[in-house]
Amino acid sequence: MNKPCRAAAIGIIALLLLWPVSAGQVTAAEEEQAKSARQFAIVIDDFGNGMDGTEEMLKLPVKFTVAIMPFMPTTQKDAEEAHRLGHDVIVHMPMEPNKGLKKWLGPGAITADLSDAEIRKRVEEAIDNVPYAVGMNNHMGSKITADERIMRIVLTVCKERGLFFLDSRTTFKTVVPKVTEELGVPALGNDVFLDDVYTEQHVAKQITLAKKHLESHDTCIVIGHVGPSGKKTAAVLKASIPSMQSDGHVEFVKLSNLVPSLSGDPFILPNP
Ligand SMILES: [Zn+2]
Repeated sequence: MNKPCRAAAIGIIALLLLWPVSAGQVTAAEEEQAKSARQFAIVIDDFGNGMDGTEEMLKLPVKFTVAIMPFMPTTQKDAEEAHRLGHDVIVHMPMEPNKGLKKWLGPGAITADLSDAEIRKRVEEAIDNVPYAVGMNNHMGSKITADERIMRIVLTVCKERGLFFLDSRTTFKTVVPKVTEELGVPALGNDVFLDDVYTEQHVAKQITLAKKHLESHDTCIVIGHVGPSGKKTAAVLKASIPSMQSDGHVEFVKLSNLVPSLSGDPFILPNP
């Protein structure tokens, strides 16, 4: 083998040896970049009644989504404060569950015995009662979110008013994905409930679960509450947020950031 040929051969061998390494590095870098785009949206339910943890939640060091019940003593105040702090405001619409007492629902609730006209009226009044609302989610509602007649009316009003709908997913029989798709309403779904057990240990476990969810998904939506668990949930979130931010893979977002029609282009209604 003459010199140039030998040099070429060595070059080719070197390339072949290096190829898998450099290919592996590119993939790792791409993975790193993809990870950095992952979005974590915190939603806190049950504002509007001066419940425990209200102040602590509003002071969290990231933007999140504040779900406020209509017609309650602090509905207006909470909506104004949340908006002032740059959080998203959504209507936390009380809806009848399969099990539970009607008195847990609060005023203006959607129950299965209402007429079409009454459902429409209650949804419109609830939206009017919560200033700055950009979306809606359900308070309880395992019975109602499985009812196509009712959800068609609720979601039609959301569409008319330019609101997205977050399905809290309190039932596996939910018709929200089907009806939102038919009507063209921007739809989101809860991935993890943070505080269905009222201990800090449980909330921490649920945050770990949410982080696991983010390993295989681009977004994770979690729902926590003010109320009996409010202060504990706020404390665990406050403690968890800095490390999630510092590893560089998690961006905390509001729900409106996850709805393209709300964060960029104006929401277009073909048939208002
Ligand atoms: Zn609720």
